[in-house]
Formats: sequence, structure tokens, C-alpha cells
Amino acid sequence: MKNVRKYWHAIMILIVFEAVAVTLWLTKNNLFYLFNFSYIGMSISLGIFLFIRKNKHARRIVQLLVGLYMLVYLGLICRENMQIEGFWYYLFTGVFEAATIHYAVAKIFGPLIFGRGWCGYACWTAMVLDFLPYKVPAQPRRKIGWIRYITFALSLIFVSALFLAKVVQMEKIMFWAFIVGNLLYYGIGIALAFAFRDNRAFCKYICPITVFLKPMSYFSLIRIQCNQDKCVHCGKCKRVCPMDVDPTDNARNRKNGTECILCMECVKNCPKHAL
Ligand code: SF4
Ligand code: SF4
Ligand code: SF4
Repeated sequence: MKNVRKYWHAIMILIVFEAVAVTLWLTKNNLFYLFNFSYIGMSISLGIFLFIRKNKHARRIVQLLVGLYMLVYLGLICRENMQIEGFWYYLFTGVFEAATIHYAVAKIFGPLIFGRGWCGYACWTAMVLDFLPYKVPAQPRRKIGWIRYITFALSLIFVSALFLAKVVQMEKIMFWAFIVGNLLYYGIGIALAFAFRDNRAFCKYICPITVFLKPMSYFSLIRIQCNQDKCVHCGKCKRVCPMDVDPTDNARNRKNGTECILCMECVKNCPKHAL
């Protein structure tokens, strides 16, 4: 019973993903969904389990397990465009399959439970950016987050234009859009990280997916909370946060609250175990 309590978050995530896996497998009559969501759920639960056991590489292990699976297996081998263009594409064709389901679970409704866990544990763009040297931002945050709305609109315009022009071979175009889009994301993400001395600059200012992620994660069930009785206001948690969140404030509208990627750096570094 003690172990169940200790590993409760890992168990809960596994149950949620298994419920999704089995539901989709049965309703869609497609075994792929059972494999896909079971694999992702098990990878994330393994990460949480390792974190509880104080393994310092826990988050990176999950990032690589899930990120590489999605980028290499789903994206390159299965040729599924899992980027935002793929989401628009499948949405417009009325197909509730890979990319639309992925967005519904990981980026639209899932964040009501696990916030921006996708950004901390699964995103294949951040999987690479997190290897860069600026794990903690070396410069103050800039007020250029509006760029995300432009990239969001551009992705929608791009796919709408393909549909309006009745382009043939859409599947092929979406595959190449996935390749080019990823190369662009990596190129811009790495350049920005060095220019702003902040690994997560791309996430803060450019990524169009945050247009979904931010409002939904505002209501997240799982979130970092501070025990005010234990906190001695040393400020260490804020200094190590890659996303400039103030974890000492328990309000939902705390500073950069919808930016939290649940990376647990604040928790690991709090000398009073207040988080
Ligand atoms: S903000 Fe975008 S690029 Fe960054 S981790 Fe989240 S989904 Fe990935
Ligand atoms: S690191 Fe811990 S003790 Fe220090 S301000 Fe943050 S929550 Fe409080
Ligand atoms: S350091 Fe804490 S507050 Fe900052 S993103 Fe990570 S989990 Fe969230």
C-alpha cells in the first residue's frame, strides 16, 4: 500500500494511457492504438518511476523513448505528419486518426490532466534542444510570445491553401512538409537557443502548438504546488526553472504558470522539500 502511494502518479498516468489505448483499439478496431498508447504510457510512467527513485536522467530517458519513437517510427517510417500541419490536414479531411488523435490526447484535452507534460517528456523538438548548453535561461524573458500566433496562422493558411487549390498527392506533400518543418524547427530552435542563451527560447516564442497547450494547461490537474509552511523563500526554484515560472505561487495565474513543463528541476533543487 505504501508503494502504491509512493508511485501513485506513475500508476495514474499508466492507467490514463491504457484507458485511451484500449478504448481506441476497440472503437477503431485497430491494434496500432493499443501498441502506440501503451508504449507512450509505459515510457512516461517509467520516467516518473525513475524520478521518484531519484534517477537524474529520468526525464531525458522518457524524452528519448517517446521523442525518437514519434519522430523516427511514426514520422519517418510510417510517414504520419504529426506536426501541426498534419493535424490540420487530418482535421480537414475529417479523419479522426493518428495526428488528430495525437493532438486531442497530448495537446488539447490531455493537458487538462497533465498540463504541458508533452513539452517536458515527449516532444522531439525539445528532445534535441535540451541537449544544448543553456538549460537555465541566461537572459530575461522577452515580450515576443506573439510570434507563436503568426506561426500558428501560417500553418493553418499553408494547409488551407493546399485544400483550396485542390492539390493532388497531398499525402506526399504532407510527408515532405514534415521533413522540412522539422528541419526548420531544429534550425530555428538551435539558433534561438544560442542567440538568447536559452535552450527553450523556441518553446517560449515560436512554437505554434503552445496556442493549444497554454490555455488548456491553465486548468491542469497535475501541477507544481508549494507548501508555504516549509518554504523559506530562498528563490532557488525560480533560478533553476527553464521556463521562468514562479513555483512558489500556488495561484493558477502565477507568473508564466502556463509555461510549466513539469520538468521537476524546481522540486529537485528545493532545499526544504517544499514543492
Ligand atoms: S513548446 Fe512546442 S517545441 Fe517546445 S516542447 Fe512544447 S511542443 Fe515541443
Ligand atoms: S526552493 Fe523551496 S524553499 Fe526555496 S523558494 Fe523555492 S520552494 Fe521555497
Ligand atoms: S522548474 Fe518547476 S516550475 Fe519550472 S518548468 Fe520545471 S516543473 Fe515547472
